[in-house]
Amino acid sequence: MPIVYIALGTNLEPRATHLEKALELFRSLPDVEVKRVSSIYESKPVGYLDQPDFLNLVFEADTDLLPMDLLDSCQNIEQELGRVRTIRFGPRTLDVDIVLYGVESIEEERLTVPHPRMQERSFVLLPLQELNPEFVVPGWNKTVNELVAELPPEDLEEIWKYAPEA
Ligand code: AMP
Repeated sequence: MPIVYIALGTNLEPRATHLEKALELFRSLPDVEVKRVSSIYESKPVGYLDQPDFLNLVFEADTDLLPMDLLDSCQNIEQELGRVRTIRFGPRTLDVDIVLYGVESIEEERLTVPHPRMQERSFVLLPLQELNPEFVVPGWNKTVNELVAELPPEDLEEIWKYAPEA
């Protein structure tokens, strides 16, 4: 059974609740067994900067689902959480990315795994490093530790462990 790593991100309040609800939904899937969950990180947005900071985490799971079926489940959960908001066509409350699907490299129209931008994303690599630092990422043939070491130092200033206000 392949081990998969899935990244969650949200920048709409209540952010921590969205992550919790998403994990709950993943845990309720009959074909997905959530094993370990990283710490929650807070990160500055990349690309489009004029938006709130994100909360991110990565979790590890065993699954019987084929990659495309896993993607369907991820997108269903994205939609489920999206419905929490009443604003039609408003911003999405949850982004779900399949980061790794075992040692497989997948290039389909709807799915590229390993996630094509994971090596430049501190908010994927740092939580993944907590869970599996020595995993050799297919395609790059580098460990997660090595990919983290290659991140530009300024990227590491844009991410920190999340400490919710008491
Ligand atoms: P985004 O709006 O950035 O969340 O992108 C969603 C789109 O990316 C969907 O149409 C997916 O089919 C596609 N996609 C490609 N590779 C992946 C992946 N590894 N995980 C999640 N979505 C993916």
